[in-house]
Amino acid sequence: MFVGHYAAAFALKGKEKTASLAMLFIATQFVDILFFPLAVAGVENLKFVEGFTAVNDFNMDHYPYTHGLLGTVVWALIFYCLYYLFYAKKQTNRKTIAIVMALGVLSHWFADLIVHTPDLPLICGEPKFGFGLWHSKEMTFGIEGLLLVLSWYYYMIKTQSNSKKGKYLSLAFVIFLIGLNFLNLYVLPPNHDLVSLTVSALVFYFLLAVMAHYVERVRV
Ligand SMILES: [Zn+2]
Repeated sequence: MFVGHYAAAFALKGKEKTASLAMLFIATQFVDILFFPLAVAGVENLKFVEGFTAVNDFNMDHYPYTHGLLGTVVWALIFYCLYYLFYAKKQTNRKTIAIVMALGVLSHWFADLIVHTPDLPLICGEPKFGFGLWHSKEMTFGIEGLLLVLSWYYYMIKTQSNSKKGKYLSLAFVIFLIGLNFLNLYVLPPNHDLVSLTVSALVFYFLLAVMAHYVERVRV
């Protein structure tokens, strides 16, 4: 799952308005941010198998450190501690914000569960889970878009823009995200080079977080 992960970011931001949307964009993709470099290092496993799913050729037969449920819980706890002890230190509700961030990290596994083939372990090895939505391009595009739009709408009704620009910037951002998913699913050719795939994934994760930062600045 790509932009669908940001549904959790918008929903959590709508619930806890003092949490940073930009950091929620990082939190909800945190295990993927770790996964790609770990795959390059050979710690986790990503093989390209032509036609593996309708959406991509990713065969991930061993990636327990970032995509095991236990692994994800551990990363969520680490994110909680980093937030509680350092990042949100000066905020009065730092415990709440740290919990929201940890939930953002944890949401990744459950969002991936919808789309992945049964490759998500609980700890390591069998049993593995995944509902396999990636076998249909249209369903993947539709469900990811629907989740994103619903949670973005929730965020919009829970916050107010402080200018006209604020309203249109948020709308433009969600349209941009859906457009990006369209490009990713229907237009761009499959990339089988792990290093360039890793670089482009990381660039996009951080770029989208920066964009989220500017979107939330014009809303209160
Ligand atoms: Zn993932």
